[in-house]
Amino acid sequence: MNDEELLALYEWAPGKCFRHPAAGTVGTALVKTIRPRLDGEKEVRACRRCVLAMEGIRREAAERAGLDYEPGHAGEALG
Ligand SMILES: [Zn+2]
Repeated sequence: MNDEELLALYEWAPGKCFRHPAAGTVGTALVKTIRPRLDGEKEVRACRRCVLAMEGIRREAAERAGLDYEPGHAGEALG
């Protein structure tokens, strides 16, 4: 799977990347929804570069742990 195929697994919309919000509004994908107590829902969004970086980390971690790597879930824990 190449980068474009991997990125196509996500839905993209303008937003702020959680890793560098100061960069302003860029194309982002929802990677996680967190529910802080008493604070409703919060979306964690990441830009293309950061999604690819997160996928790379997951892939390496899966290989080390002997788990199957399934792309398209950048913000989720392995397992
Ligand atoms: Zn980013």
